Amino acid sequence: MRNGLIVVFSLLCFLSAGCARAPVTGRPQLILVSQGEELALGLSAYREILKKERISHDPRLNAMLERVGWRIARAARRPDYKWEFHLIDNDKVANAFCLPGGKVFVYTGILKYTRDEDGLAVVVGHEVAHALARHGAERMSMALLAQMGEAAAEAALRLQSPQAIKAFSVAYGLAANVGLLLPYSRAQEFEADYIGLILMARACYDPESALVFWQRMLRANKEGFRPVFLSTHPTDRARIQRLRQLMPKARRIFLSSCGGSY
Ligand SMILES: [Zn+2]
Repeated sequence: MRNGLIVVFSLLCFLSAGCARAPVTGRPQLILVSQGEELALGLSAYREILKKERISHDPRLNAMLERVGWRIARAARRPDYKWEFHLIDNDKVANAFCLPGGKVFVYTGILKYTRDEDGLAVVVGHEVAHALARHGAERMSMALLAQMGEAAAEAALRLQSPQAIKAFSVAYGLAANVGLLLPYSRAQEFEADYIGLILMARACYDPESALVFWQRMLRANKEGFRPVFLSTHPTDRARIQRLRQLMPKARRIFLSSCGGSY
């Protein structure tokens, strides 16, 4: 059903003047949410998160997140984004996300999976990639369209109705902690891996670290550990294989951006 909807919407997208295209891959997207509406919804979610969650003041971990975050942010080449990096002190939640416009949140619980700076760059790069490609806006558009049709969906978004706000928090993985999970589609995951690898390579992080990280996640999954991040980011052999296919291109960018000094 969902795949059928995606095909129909993609066809509509080709015919529509308002069709967006994802960065790097150029994949056509049907997005009903304007940048402004998305930023406004993102801002209220942002305030809510800062009010509810405990921010970590660990100087070493915060310095690492700032360092990784800014290297990836510079590689994203979006000076219009208002980048911010927040570490949430919660070891029980292994999750991370990036709100529209560049507000990145990382839970301390994911650090046992990322382990070091390179691992953190994989997660931050991947989440920033979802934001750059506006995957959340795309998911919201799909969900609202499926529920209520195009005109009503556009009105719900414009008025920031409760349905739109709920669709936003589900689409961005913010509702994961209360059990409302919506895994990204395969196409979006592949795209975020792809863009994330390019960001890492431009930022002079060895793109091979992505293989190491996702293989570690695959093992965690097999051993029965199910971090929140795995619920929204299904990991299997197909994912690892596609990462391998992208590696020669990512390595070329890495070597040309960073020479042999890294
Ligand atoms: Zn993802």
